[in-house]
Amino acid sequence: MTKTVSCPNCGSNRMKMHNPQLSIWQCSKCGYQGPVVVENGNLNKQIKENKKMEKLRKKLLWRR
Ligand SMILES: [Zn+2]
Repeated sequence: MTKTVSCPNCGSNRMKMHNPQLSIWQCSKCGYQGPVVVENGNLNKQIKENKKMEKLRKKLLWRR
């Protein structure tokens, strides 16, 4: 199975499997770490979604 994995933070595809048991990936360009598998075509969408989710999460946290 070959899947292109791209960093949701900087868009680099130089991702390394950091922790295979937890499927944590690490970006060798920006140092991002996360359980992320982004297919090439959806990268921009995925980045936007991630930013949205982060904003939502922050909002939810602030309201508590
Ligand atoms: Zn990166």
